Amino acid sequence: MQGMMDALVKREDGKGLDLVKVPVPEPGIGEVLIKIHKTAICGTDVHIYNWDPWSRQHIRPPMTIGHEYVGEIAALGPGVHDYRVGQIVSGEGHIVCGHCRNCRAGNGHWCKFTKGVGVDRDGAFAEYLRIPETNVIAISKDISEDIISFFDAYGNAAHTATMFDVVGEDVLITGAGPIGMMAAGICKQNGARRIIITDVNDYRLAIAKKMGASQTVNLKHENLEDAMKNQGMVEGFDVGLEMSGNGAALNQLLKSMRNGGKVALLGIAGPGTVIDWNDVIFKGLTLQGIYGRKMYETWYKIIAMIEAGLDLNPIITHRFHYTEFEQGFAAMNSGESGKVILNWA
Ligand code: NAD
Ligand code: ZN
Repeated sequence: MQGMMDALVKREDGKGLDLVKVPVPEPGIGEVLIKIHKTAICGTDVHIYNWDPWSRQHIRPPMTIGHEYVGEIAALGPGVHDYRVGQIVSGEGHIVCGHCRNCRAGNGHWCKFTKGVGVDRDGAFAEYLRIPETNVIAISKDISEDIISFFDAYGNAAHTATMFDVVGEDVLITGAGPIGMMAAGICKQNGARRIIITDVNDYRLAIAKKMGASQTVNLKHENLEDAMKNQGMVEGFDVGLEMSGNGAALNQLLKSMRNGGKVALLGIAGPGTVIDWNDVIFKGLTLQGIYGRKMYETWYKIIAMIEAGLDLNPIITHRFHYTEFEQGFAAMNSGESGKVILNWA
């Protein structure tokens, strides 16, 4: 598999990405080489593209970025016996140490030594990707590759939306980005009674509605209390899913919970975000931070939920060839997008 390949590389300190030739990686012991078919653009990739303060601190150029993908196994490194060339795969984007306390307890998502594909090491926006076989997820050819391409983000949505029991419950989702949209679909499929989702973006709320939200609230011109009344709610939400990373949204969510409610926090709060702790204390709320996907229970569930009929197609809004990546990032930056897929075939 020697030779050169195309890759989207953060070459230097500064905005943007470059489409350049880099060497095809060689799978080492216990590693798998994946020929990438499709990738999806994550919010993290947009941060890196835009070269915001977080990326300036975390990313060490030159590096190929990207971590949402589907492809086929192209080659096996020495010692890999459980996979074969040609299998359709995606992969867990967090490469964990395997020997810390959490890893050994089956809680790899809490590994202190996690390395992120496309964040700490070369990623998937390339013709080939090399990852450890432990991270490979084989997926049935019956599932559309467009959908598999963003299983990583779908896994974030599922990890959050399945953290607490939603059967018969009233759920508030703050933030109708791609992850909030998917969470609406997951809660619907899993038997939630009411699903109210907030955002400040009508384009995105319309997709969340298609995914199964009972009611959407655009906070620019509607208010959540009215929506709750309209839905016949009395005591507040049973389950809250914070998926915006916005401090005001987090505070609104805490204030809208019923006593004894359960809150899963996925959105990455800005520095210095303040909450009113008395909302948590007097209401007896349970707060659970969510990072990544459970290894590998979340992967099992996300495949199972698709097989059980969950349709994520409504959230796909754009498809481009990888050479048109600038248009893909522009779509993501515009806010008028769900999932943006880049085709590498
Ligand atoms: P996104 O940025 O596309 O979506 C966030 C949405 O929140 C946007 O549509 C925005 O308009 C909306 N929003 C802004 N202010 C709001 C407010 N006051 N009330 C309600 N909504 C508001 O992000 P995404 O890709 O869907 O991801 C969701 C969040 O999860 C992000 O914060 C992301 O960084 C985070 N994330 C965390 C993990 C993790 O492991 N913890 C993994 C992936 C993503
Ligand atoms: Zn570990």
